[in-house]
This record gives sequence, structure tokens and C-alpha cells, in this order.
Amino acid sequence: MPLSDSELDRYARHIVLREVGGAGQQKLKSSRVLVVGAGGLGSPLALYLAAAGVGTLHLVDDDTVSLSNLQRQIAHTTARVGERKTASAAAQLRAINPEVTIVEHATRITAGNARELIGAVDLVADGSDNFDTRFLINDACHLYGKPLVSAAVVQFDGQLSTFKSHIRGTEGGGGHPCYRCLYREPPPPDSRPNCAEAGILGAVAGVMGTLQATEVLKELIGIGDSLSGRLLIYDALSTAVRTVRLKPDPACPLCGPQATIKDLSGHA
Ligand SMILES: [Zn+2]
Repeated sequence: MPLSDSELDRYARHIVLREVGGAGQQKLKSSRVLVVGAGGLGSPLALYLAAAGVGTLHLVDDDTVSLSNLQRQIAHTTARVGERKTASAAAQLRAINPEVTIVEHATRITAGNARELIGAVDLVADGSDNFDTRFLINDACHLYGKPLVSAAVVQFDGQLSTFKSHIRGTEGGGGHPCYRCLYREPPPPDSRPNCAEAGILGAVAGVMGTLQATEVLKELIGIGDSLSGRLLIYDALSTAVRTVRLKPDPACPLCGPQATIKDLSGHA
């Protein structure tokens, strides 16, 4: 997709990067990404993807902006409290970059609409805030063959990885794990911390959402080392970042050789 004069100007600091160049910027322009959740992670994630010139961004979130969101959900403003998060975030993204297309889905992603939402994009970025959605998106991305960049935050801690389990590993090694290779099943409901109960330092969501945006851009352009097969762990209190190896689990019910999950019927 060719770039206009104003786009060449807007993205000049990308294009000057040898790894990106005009060709990489054109790849971003022709890319379509689904951002799940317009909250603490989804705000910096979507803001950077729109600023970077990702051609089409689909936003899915069924919530409205509340005052207690604003400590971390930086796509929203005090004046937009009470508005739908998709509309509020879309207004901010369009203000930053009117060259990109923002598609609003003011709904929750479910087993019923996942195929349509995920089928419309090249990559999914999960910034959702609950385990049920996280597992649904993992399963859907594997079944429908789309890469997934997934982040999570609570209190002072963050995690990030890229999942491409739909790509079959080469014989005798390699291969890409999925989220279920890391966590088999959602934890029982009473053991789940959430932001409202556990709290979160707002800037930690900013760090993780920005790292997530960076990995999305790398995947779309096809540069650097993919985070697939590694889990990045950020501990803000001790200012430590580490990555641990993630291997495909041969007993994984989704991506293993004896997989039992063949569709989304186990999800709400
Ligand atoms: Zn798996």
C-alpha cells in the first residue's frame, strides 16, 4: 500500500530506521489488528498502534468510562466519563492519527462473535482483564490461525508473551506454545485477583501495554526476535525484567498432538 506525502512526513522517524523503512511502514498501513479491551493495557497499546500507522484497528470493549479508570486508562478523559470506552478511545486515536481506520465494537468478545472479530484481522492483541476472555481468545486464535500478543497486569507485576501455536513446529524441535501450555485451565473464580480488589499501579499498565505494542509492531513488520516461546515478567517494585522459556506442552488440550479442544463450545 503506497504512502502519501503526509504519511511519509508523519512516519519519517520510522522510515529512517533501516529495519522498518518504507516497506515496513507500508506493511503497517496494510495491517489489521484487533485490540481486546480499551482499558489499562488497551489504552497505551491502541494509542501507540494508531500513532505508528497500523492501518485498521478494531477495538472491542463493552464497558463505559468511570472515574476510577482514569488513574491508568490514558485513552480516556474526565470529560468522557460515562461514555462507551470504544467511542472514547476511538476519538482519541482519530485525534492522534486521522490516517488510520478505527472500527468500534461496543460488545464483549464471546464464543458467538469470536470468529467474525478475529477473522477480520491479521493479529490479536489481548489486553482484557479476566481469565475467561483470555482463554477464549487463546483458543480462538489457535483455531482460526492468528498470532496473539497477550499481556496481563496486577498490582506491581506484569507478564507478556506472543503465541503462535497455529504454526506447526519443525520436526524434532522448535514449535510455538499457546497460553494453555502455560496455564492449562482458568483458576477457580474465588482465587482470581482483579484490579478492583487487588489494585494496580497505573504506570505498570502503561509499561506493559507499551511493551505489548512494541511486540505487535515487530510481528507485523517481521523484525527482531519474536517473543513466541518466551514469557516476559516485569516486577516494578524491584525494577526487574526477566524472560523465561516457554515450551509447547505435548499434553496441551488445545495445541498438543492429542488435542481435545476443537471448537469454542466450552466457552460462554
Ligand atoms: Zn498449547
